[in-house]
Amino acid sequence: QAKTLGGNTVQLFNSSLSTTSKERLALESSLRQAISGDQLEVYYQPKMSLNEESITTAEALIRWNHPEQGLIMPGSFIGIAEETGLINEIGDFVLEEACRQTSSWLSRGWEIRISVNVAAGQLRRGNLADQISELLDKHNIPAHLLELEITESQVMEDIDQAIELLSRIRDLGVTLSIDDFGTGYSSLSYLKRLPVNSLKIDRSFISHIDQNDNDSAITKAIIAMAHSLDLTVIAEGVETQDHIQFLSQHDCDEVQGYFISRPLPVSEFNEFIETKLKAG
Ligand code: C2E
Ligand code: MG
Ligand code: MG
Ligand code: MG
Repeated sequence: QAKTLGGNTVQLFNSSLSTTSKERLALESSLRQAISGDQLEVYYQPKMSLNEESITTAEALIRWNHPEQGLIMPGSFIGIAEETGLINEIGDFVLEEACRQTSSWLSRGWEIRISVNVAAGQLRRGNLADQISELLDKHNIPAHLLELEITESQVMEDIDQAIELLSRIRDLGVTLSIDDFGTGYSSLSYLKRLPVNSLKIDRSFISHIDQNDNDSAITKAIIAMAHSLDLTVIAEGVETQDHIQFLSQHDCDEVQGYFISRPLPVSEFNEFIETKLKAG
């Protein structure tokens, strides 16, 4: 969502294709300030198990509280962060914050798994397994409470390197999920080789699941395929009771989306959990 700013302000948030180098430089420098100046905040969006109707996981989603622009969504800055390498610092921040939060939930008796989106740059850096192992120790959280979300295209950049790195992370006991599944270069032969635990069906298939025969067929097929590979399957972008009904009927394991909750700042997420707990 590009914003046009008046006066001598540079237009910061534009799609990367049409942004001039001057604008990109301005965005890069204000993103640097955001990282060092405490403007980044992690929001949390729950994932719900359909069988138990309980919250299993919170996905960490980055937000930028810009002093003048207000809340900026990741779609407006993750791209440039990747290109400039700033994604590594953002990724470090999110991982640390996610682990710290998980340990804080544990201390109040809440066992909530945290799910962190990992960028291609973080996979390329190569030290991710060590970094994660250190974070789990530092915050004293069991590995199974951390999940990483990785997209198909990231894996396909270098499939052999990805398999090796992901296997090391999996060996720590960390859970791995393929995000936006169905939109990348899905090849069933690589899926079998990847040490992942779950597939997350992309929102684009879910939104018309109850009107579009292709989307519902694809969704059913992904669920069946996941289960036959011993993977769990989650649907993202679940917005209606009809979505829930369809996914429940076809044996999807978990759901996530506005129908359950939007991504929330931590205080609101905690209230959400408390309300759920009271309701039993
Ligand atoms: P994603 O990981 O696929 O996250 C799902 C996106 O869909 C989130 O957008 C979420 O707010 C939105 N969403 C969730 N439920 C619904 C729904 O029911 N309907 C609709 N229309 N949207 C829904 P968000 O937070 O803007 O994040 C966008 C993308 O930015 C994420 O897609 C992820 O690829 C990336 N991202 C977010 N946080 C991080 C991060 O910490 N690190 C990295 N590397 N990428 C991140
Ligand atoms: Mg995700
Ligand atoms: Mg996704
Ligand atoms: Mg998506």
